[in-house]
Amino acid sequence: MRTTITAVLTLLGFLTIANPPATANEGSLAFVGARIIDGTAAEPIEDGVLVITDGRIRSVGPRSAVTIPEGARQIDVSGKTIMPGLINAHGHVGGTLGLGGGQYNTGNLLRQLGLYARYGVTTVNSLGGDEEQGFALRNRQHDPDLNRARIFVAGSVVVGDSEAAIRAEVNRNADMGANFIKVRIDDNLGATQKMPRHLFDALVDQAHIRRLPVAVHLFYLEDAKYMLNAGADLIAHSVRDLPVDTEFINLINAKDVCYIPTLTREVSTFVYENEPEFFSDPFFLKEVEPAIIEQLKSPERQSRLRNSSSAQRYKIALEVAMANIRALDEAGVKIAMGTDTGPPARFQGYFEHLEMQMMVAAGMSPLDAIRASTGVAADCINVGDVGTLEPGKWGDLVVLGANPAVDIENTKTIESVWIAGNRVPD
Ligand SMILES: [Zn+2]
Repeated sequence: MRTTITAVLTLLGFLTIANPPATANEGSLAFVGARIIDGTAAEPIEDGVLVITDGRIRSVGPRSAVTIPEGARQIDVSGKTIMPGLINAHGHVGGTLGLGGGQYNTGNLLRQLGLYARYGVTTVNSLGGDEEQGFALRNRQHDPDLNRARIFVAGSVVVGDSEAAIRAEVNRNADMGANFIKVRIDDNLGATQKMPRHLFDALVDQAHIRRLPVAVHLFYLEDAKYMLNAGADLIAHSVRDLPVDTEFINLINAKDVCYIPTLTREVSTFVYENEPEFFSDPFFLKEVEPAIIEQLKSPERQSRLRNSSSAQRYKIALEVAMANIRALDEAGVKIAMGTDTGPPARFQGYFEHLEMQMMVAAGMSPLDAIRASTGVAADCINVGDVGTLEPGKWGDLVVLGANPAVDIENTKTIESVWIAGNRVPD
């Protein structure tokens, strides 16, 4: 509040200098005594101190190396673990309410950004379905009072049946201020037509003319290779038809493109054929309305999924996707956590934790899964001031009761979430 008043007075010309040095640390916050996982390649710091001033990290390190500013509010977090707020590199925000779509408005956007935040997901890269209100919230998040998840936006998923139409749609999203251009190259297991390659080429060309990266929804290995050669900048789903091969691995590494597995997207296609285990997880139940769970448990819905050939095929695709993560991780490919949450029955917040558990089940170490969900994810979505706990970055972090480096399920032991140094309301 004090900061806001100062900023307003300064804007109005009432103050010509910032806070005098004697009071400059009054708004500082010092987290003292935690294990700190900073989201970089570094090993965790034991008994660390992290100081936030004016929403940004001022210093971080072992207790012996950090001076706590006089006047800072100290928070004892000994025995706990601090990690950066999680980054979902592929989500969707604003459209769903309950199990229905078409609910895009500012209130619903804010509700979902609050939900992500309570689960420790402090940044969401929304890859499609974004309208004006989402762009407006993206533009209003460099605010030291922020206490909901940050959002980045792609605008519409670009479609069109001519080069001119594709270029016009890219321009429309670019004019609105999109962070990414999103495109789908998929035939939905043979049910629909794929976008022809010459239109994809035009899309990449136009996006790059507008200096925007292209994020691609895909399914097939052959398409993935084509798109990497054509200049795609982000692979927004797993390759799920075949094992990745050396040609693909060499290509994605040479192009320095990130890969977002979205394993829980696959899970969501078939898991409700029975009652999923997570329906009895308190960490899930605390945010989900019982009526939604009842609908998902309906015997009709379950039997429809059991008899759905696409659900059963996506179940097999998930196994391919998980084997591919292991191969890509071993080959040093940049993997970013992303879930494709937002559409009905893909639960924002909870699924990001499930995704990390599945990344570890696929063969990544817990620390690598955390990096994929923090520092690497920030790098992959081109956002410079979140994702790691380093001086100058926003104070977006999660305090955990137990250490996730020894068991990834411990990311669920959330005690508090902080965004720009503001505690997210429970
Ligand atoms: Zn998506």
